[in-house]
Order: sequence, then C-alpha cells, then structure tokens
Amino acid sequence: MSEKVEKLKERIRQLERILEISRDLSSTLNFHPLLIKITRVAAELTNTEASSILLLDKSTGQLYFEAATGVTESALVGIPVPLEGSIAGWIVKEGKPLIIDDVDKDPRFYRHVDTLTSFRTRSILGVPLKVKDEVIGALEVLNKKGSQPFTEEDVEVLTTLAAQAAIAIENARLFQQSDLVAILAHELRTPLTSIIGYTRLLLTQADLNPALRRSFLETISHEASRLNSLINDFLDLIRLESGRVRLSKKLVHLRHLIEEAVATVRPQAEARRIKIKIQIPRNLPPIMADERRLMQVLLNLLSNAIKYNKDEGLVEVKATLKDRAVEVSVRDTGIGIEPEELPHIFEKFYRGSSEQNAFGTGLGLAIAKQITEAHGGTITVESTPGQGSTFTVTLPLQSGM
Ligand code: ADP
Repeated sequence: MSEKVEKLKERIRQLERILEISRDLSSTLNFHPLLIKITRVAAELTNTEASSILLLDKSTGQLYFEAATGVTESALVGIPVPLEGSIAGWIVKEGKPLIIDDVDKDPRFYRHVDTLTSFRTRSILGVPLKVKDEVIGALEVLNKKGSQPFTEEDVEVLTTLAAQAAIAIENARLFQQSDLVAILAHELRTPLTSIIGYTRLLLTQADLNPALRRSFLETISHEASRLNSLINDFLDLIRLESGRVRLSKKLVHLRHLIEEAVATVRPQAEARRIKIKIQIPRNLPPIMADERRLMQVLLNLLSNAIKYNKDEGLVEVKATLKDRAVEVSVRDTGIGIEPEELPHIFEKFYRGSSEQNAFGTGLGLAIAKQITEAHGGTITVESTPGQGSTFTVTLPLQSGM
C-alpha cells in the first residue's frame, strides 16, 4: 500500500514538473535553446544518461539530430538518420512510442551514430513528437540510470512532455519562418516610418503653427496605437494557431454578451449615425464558451460592420437556435466584399483593396476564425458588393465538451 502511495506521490511530482516545464517551454521562441531545454528535461524526468531530438525534414525525407544533452551535442547536430533502419525512423513512421532495453539485440538500432560520439547506447525509449496528427520528429532518452529497464511511467511522462514540446517547437519554427517574419516586419514598418517622419518634422521645424503641430502629434499617437495592436493581435493569433490557448469555458448567455459588445461599439457607430439593431429570441439557451474570447469575436465583427459601413447605415445582430447550435449573424449595409476577395478575408494580414481598408491590421477576422473553430464552431460570410455583408458564427450548444 505505502509503495503505491509513494508511486502516486512521485507521479504527481512529475506531473507538476511537466506543467511547470510546459509553461517555460511555451515562453521560449528561440529554436535551439528551446530544443536543448526539452532534452535536458526529458533526461531529468526519465532519470536517464542522455536525450536527443530528431526532426523530420520533409524535403529529404530524413531525420536530423537537432539537439542532444551533454557532450554529444556538438558531434550529433546535423547528422542525418534514415527513416528506414533506425529506431527514430520507426517511431516517426508508426507514430508510436518504443522501448528497446538492449540495443545490441535490435536490428533497428542505427549504430553509425554511436561511432561518431564517444557515447555508448545501451537502452532507448523514444516517443513521437506530434502536432495535431502529424509526426514532426522523435524525442529519445538513452540508458536509464542504475541499469534499470524503462517503465510504463517513463513512456507516459515522456509522451506528455513530447506533446508540449512539439507545440513549442512548431511555434518556434513559425517565428523562424522568414516569410511570416518578413510580412510582420513589413507591416510594422509602415506605422514606424510615419512615426519617425512626423517626429523629425516636429523636432526640426521650430515654427510650426499649433494646429499643424497638433495634427502631427495626433498622427504619431494614432500610428503608435496601431503598432501596439498589430503586435498584440499578431502574438494572439500565433498563440491561437498553435493550439496553445486554453479556453476557459462556462455557461454564457449570449444576450448579455451581445448587448455588452454593442454598447462598447455604439460610440463608434453614433459618430457616423449608424444604427445598430439586436434581435435575440427570449428562449435562447446559454452556450458553453469562453466569454472573453467570444467577446473578442463579436467586437471584431461589429467594429468591421461599422468601419466598412456607409454613413447612416445599419448593423443588425441576430441570434437564432438551429438544431444543436446557436447562430449569431452580424449584417451590415456597407461597402460589401468583391467575390474574388471573399476567399481571402480570413487570412492573416489580408486587407481588402478599397481605401477604407488602409488602416486595419488584417488580423481581426483571422483571430475570430481561430477562436470560433477552437469552440468547435464555424464562421462564414456572404456579401453583395455595394450593398453589405453578413458574417455568421455558428457555435454548438455544448461546444467541445
Ligand atoms: P482589418 O479590418 O483590420 O483590415 P479584418 O481581418 O478584420 O482586418 O478584415 C479583413 C478584411 O476583410 C478587411 O480589410 C476588409 O477588406 C474585409 N472586411 C471585413 N469585414 C468587412 C465588412 N463587414 N464589410 C466589408 N468588408 C469587410
């Protein structure tokens, strides 16, 4: 009995450690340091002599050592390992963990690697690194200390760690992806250029009249806010895309939420004499959702419906019960969206071609889509150019429960 209790205590300690680690991992966006952290923790949690990470390069169809603990690191990194005839290859192809207590007896062991380092492998436990259902590589630990065999607990602990590690690796990769970084840099440059330009003017032109001065300062302040929302939205979107955001769901009454969202955007609407109508049936049941995140979706759709509306236009928010789902639609009488633009508007950084689009971030709808889908829902759009658009969010009553 007491042995059982001890084991349980040990297990809880490990789980707490994994939780602590995954928090740490998710804040590391630097690729190589992240991998090193993962291998160190893997060896620590499984009480083994060494650990390594191999990632799959889709273009060559081979695995490459990306990181390893200890002295073997510099000798290993960059070494290719074939998918066929290697333990890591088996793990990646099968998408399953594998224990090998004596590598000398297993034909899958790729001996070549040990000959390159002074390390002598005796036993291996490896688990796949999976992002959603795709295997991106393998995490291995070598030689359990005290010449013990690997246990089921080791498999479980390493699998849990690998799940967190894979997400962190994908995130770090996303940040590495030069095109995305290039787009972001480009997007950041526009407001920055304007801020630099106007500040220089203010600094060098001593005799500017007060009205002009004020208008320059207003532009600077506006562009700085834009820079701020670009960065916040971008980080938010990246976190959502990686699946790293945990929804905190509870029963949400859509009526309250919609009314609150409308109250928030009303000043924006009134400034252009745009009317907002709400239509929600009395008996609409509450839904299981993350209130703060859902608010983000509503605010985004509503502010777009105002931003892309005509002066004195109309915005209608409707909620209806459909089968086991609730449909929330936001209709506007604005400029509408050209048919060739429709398929792209949920893409990140996509901004429509009309002049009214110039000031957005192009991230709002991408974020709204990610949040809706994280709830097990969908978001769609219908539009007639020159007449208006309708965005419809469908959320299951028991979303993702
Ligand atoms: P932003 O509004 O910051 O540009 P969004 O992701 O919210 O970014 O929207 C992307 C694009 O979709 C907009 O630039 C605009 O072209 C189009 N769009 C979104 N909502 C509407 C709407 N209600 N009416 C017309 N066009 C819209």
